[in-house]
Amino acid sequence: MVSLPNIEREELELDVVIVGGGPAGLAAAWHLTNLIKARKEQGDPGIFDSVTIAVLEKGQEIGSHGISGAVMDPRGIAELAPDWLERGCPVEAPVGDDALWYLTENGHFAAPVLPPMMNNHGNYVVSLAQLCRWMGEQVVEMGVDIFPEFPAAMALRAENRVIGVRTSDKGVDKDGNPKGNFEPGVDIKAKITILAEGPRGTVTKQLTRDLDLAAGRNPEVYALGVKELWEVPAGRFEPGKVIHTMGWPLDMSTFGGAFIYGMKENIVDIGLVVGLDYVNPTLDPHHEFQRLKLHPEIRKILEGGKMIEAGAKALPEGGYFAMPRLYGDGFLITGDSAGFLNGARLKGIHLAIKSGMLAAEAAFNALLAGDVSAARLSAYETGMEASWAKVELWKNRNFHQGFEYGQLLGMLNVGLGMVTGGRGFGVMDRLESEPGHERMMRIKRYFGSEDPHPPEKMKFDNEYTFDKVTDVYHGGVKHEENQPAHLLISDTEVCITRCTEEFGNPCLHFCPANVYEPRTTADGRGKVPFLNFTNCFHCKTCDIMDPYQVITWVPPEGGGGPAYKKA
Ligand code: SF4
Repeated sequence: MVSLPNIEREELELDVVIVGGGPAGLAAAWHLTNLIKARKEQGDPGIFDSVTIAVLEKGQEIGSHGISGAVMDPRGIAELAPDWLERGCPVEAPVGDDALWYLTENGHFAAPVLPPMMNNHGNYVVSLAQLCRWMGEQVVEMGVDIFPEFPAAMALRAENRVIGVRTSDKGVDKDGNPKGNFEPGVDIKAKITILAEGPRGTVTKQLTRDLDLAAGRNPEVYALGVKELWEVPAGRFEPGKVIHTMGWPLDMSTFGGAFIYGMKENIVDIGLVVGLDYVNPTLDPHHEFQRLKLHPEIRKILEGGKMIEAGAKALPEGGYFAMPRLYGDGFLITGDSAGFLNGARLKGIHLAIKSGMLAAEAAFNALLAGDVSAARLSAYETGMEASWAKVELWKNRNFHQGFEYGQLLGMLNVGLGMVTGGRGFGVMDRLESEPGHERMMRIKRYFGSEDPHPPEKMKFDNEYTFDKVTDVYHGGVKHEENQPAHLLISDTEVCITRCTEEFGNPCLHFCPANVYEPRTTADGRGKVPFLNFTNCFHCKTCDIMDPYQVITWVPPEGGGGPAYKKA
């Protein structure tokens, strides 16, 4: 949703605004509140006598856009709240059985020994949506304001200093005119803005571009996770059982693998992660996931069950060297927005929480000093460098880059990294990488002909396999239809001409929600994507993987999007 120009807007003045109610944003609110409380208890509240903190969430409520595998390393939450389990933090089960399978088309091999990073003992299967809901309840009890249905559309700036965010307008029709229920977005001004928007965050992307925050870093590389929850017959798959897979259905040049986690009440959480640096322009991650479920070993798990929820989300996989500068004048970047994810372990919740805590400490000290300059807020990055989060990210700093050379060399890189403290192929301190969308091959090069011959699109049986629209329905995805599309294509001429010829319009394949549909242009010159934007999972894949980078995802009207319950 773009903000209408020349509109009188309400202003709200805060001390700290946190953009995003995921684990990083909520941990920042929680820890900052604790620090302020401790200060007040010392009898010298000073500036903190009446400090105001608010969390903005674009979903209908906290947790409705929260989706992840998820197996959680408890290190982050236990540091935030040592009594997290006693306080009722929702977990599905501690991890019990833990396995790594290599899949061939019809068989599988189980790894006799788990590599240390894949060992999940001591971790917990959780629902990220439920974890976020619980964290949200805790911070509200502490006195933090949470504003659901308030997406941040842009940073408010005074030159290079961030002074808050403008939220999206609500009640604008598809042609950009105010409707009867029009509510202009609010200018939320704050001394410090903490960005916790998830992967490829809108405001983070603007600031990274405008303030050159990624200078000297590797480009962020992402993966797309597509998942479903299944209710299976009792006793089929124990809560806490964890299986990760490699190999089929992905080919040897594509990074990724599957996860299967046992939850309570006979629910199985199953999904496929596909690197958004694949080379096949017709690859369709949703379809690969559907094929995965037809594997004999996976079928055995799902047989007699029913799919109850579905969703999709991008993950920042680039690792330590792809993290942008984490601070600037008046702002801090946390969680997935900053790349706090350990791709080797397929885990980010603990790192997101830790990043939120470190940001809270830097914000607290900056408020205390009355100095929110980049120099003062750089303490956040210094704190990160001295923390266990850095140690963990550093050990796996070259993990993803190795897979740019294919799965075999990628695995060799992982093995050599394990014995050399994370050196690339055992020798190099830092492996470079390239943006994922630049690795996509043109049709002619990939197929050796102008005529693409991708595998035939699958036929869905509605028993094990489902089309994209069915998954959208099971993600509870809803958007107001009479609003401007929140996918902005800056140059549709590129879609009609170059992209059709060179790549065959990969948006028709990579979008897991069937948002992009080919329609013949009015003058019959070619095809242009029609946007079924009401289907959108907010996974950001199109913004990331479009080969010409002409697609920009912006937040739709607040409250639109998925409504995850247990994802
Ligand atoms: Fe994901 Fe883009 Fe499709 Fe939305 S339109 S589901 S963000 S790929």
